Amino acid sequence: PLSDNQRETIYALSTPPGKGGVAVVRISGPDALQVWRALVRRVTRQDGPESSDPTPWQMYRCKVTHPATGEVLDDGLAVYFKAPKSFTTEDVVELHIHSGRAVVSSVLAALSFVPTCRPAEAGEFTRRAFKGGRLDLTQVEGLKDLINAETESQRKVALKAAGGSTRDHFEKLRKDAIQCLALVEALIDFGEGEDIEEGVYEQARERVKALARNIREHLSDNRRGEILRSGIRLAIFGPPNVGKSSLLNFLAQRDAAIVTSVPGTTRDILELSLDIGGLPVIVADTAGIRQTDDLVEKLGVERARNLVKSTDVSLCVLSLPDVVDTSSGWPIIPSSVASLITPETYVLLNKSDLVDVSPDQVSSVLSALGARKGWVVSLAADEGMQDFLDGFAQALQERYDVGLEQGSSDRPLITHARHRVHLEHALQFLDAFLTHDAEDVVLAAEELRYAAQAIGKISGVIDVEDVLDAVFRDFCIGK
Ligand code: GDP
Ligand code: ZN
Repeated sequence: PLSDNQRETIYALSTPPGKGGVAVVRISGPDALQVWRALVRRVTRQDGPESSDPTPWQMYRCKVTHPATGEVLDDGLAVYFKAPKSFTTEDVVELHIHSGRAVVSSVLAALSFVPTCRPAEAGEFTRRAFKGGRLDLTQVEGLKDLINAETESQRKVALKAAGGSTRDHFEKLRKDAIQCLALVEALIDFGEGEDIEEGVYEQARERVKALARNIREHLSDNRRGEILRSGIRLAIFGPPNVGKSSLLNFLAQRDAAIVTSVPGTTRDILELSLDIGGLPVIVADTAGIRQTDDLVEKLGVERARNLVKSTDVSLCVLSLPDVVDTSSGWPIIPSSVASLITPETYVLLNKSDLVDVSPDQVSSVLSALGARKGWVVSLAADEGMQDFLDGFAQALQERYDVGLEQGSSDRPLITHARHRVHLEHALQFLDAFLTHDAEDVVLAAEELRYAAQAIGKISGVIDVEDVLDAVFRDFCIGK
């Protein structure tokens, strides 16, 4: 757990360790200016004598020196941010020094000589920014997601949240709930028909109904935001020997932006993390699906089936020569695979180099499969692959509309399960409010108070010690 003692001045290396251009050491707290006086010697004197205090928000060329020995540790830049106009809302000093390991550790060691200074814990700078009201929880989460963003869509969604638009949206909802509460409480205080005009309760009910509708619509989003944040899970499946692994290899080589290979890959399911059209996609190649008596293979097939059923998006690969009877033109669909194809499945008909099939025959195969959309390609001859990639990327973009294009709603995507839980609770309380009539006005007011609190937990305006640790846990030191 993090210490909330804000009287202490904390310091840490805020850039990643290693040899880069510069390293930034950040110092935050009431004694930040003392740190400046103890360590920083200005090189140019145009802004006064080298020992005078710095003008806030101005960069200075300086030497960083040891507070006890006066030894020069590095040449660099320093800037002082005066409270409350700093990241943490406290006095902050940043030392921009050379990033060599010895330089950084000598400066950190020197800082430990300054009384009342101590090393920062993970996420502590951001936590102070939150405590100081500089950021709300959705911005903290947005910042964290921005640091971790690997694709364009993730970057855009995280940037919006970090900029405060998620906070603004939920704050509007919370204020709405509070205004409804104020109406109802006025009835409790004065009683209808006296000072308050008739129909106030009815008016509150209508507003609560609209608010509940708004939240309900927001929640019915197929978890798009959460899926985008963690990566869209794509399962490639189909019979053995149709080109599934070839497709995965193709995607892996084609795509310059392979992010990571996902740990926990099993013998029969291989996973890769890719960037498809700006969307994060975790691709799983499954064991070939067919009827079999082999026990080991049966297990693999079973696992593949379960994966296909639980994945976000599935792509069925079939071999075109296998699924079209070239003499009759009839589609031949293996039943073990057909049973896994739903109206949401995408289909790739591979090995077009081996047969001559008319567009009509292709459409009749696709309609017999009842799939969402299909493409004809040859992985071996690299035919139709660009069309497939473009079309597939577009299909995913439409399905996971992230506001990369215009036309998406002004509601922020629900990117964290935490937000969904609080919204669901708020909705339950609003629905409970609607079951009361004006006779139960005191009980009804309670429901509204809880609803407003539940919404407030999203941004953290409501006391949320319990969620703070969860939100700040994954930050590293220096953030
Ligand atoms: P998987 O079992 O579904 O993963 O299939 P593989 O990717 O391992 O491919 C099975 C065989 O089909 C390999 O010998 C590939 O070289 C071959 N293959 C894959 N794509 C094509 C294609 O478009 N045309 C032809 N002629 N062969 C292909
Ligand atoms: Zn394979």
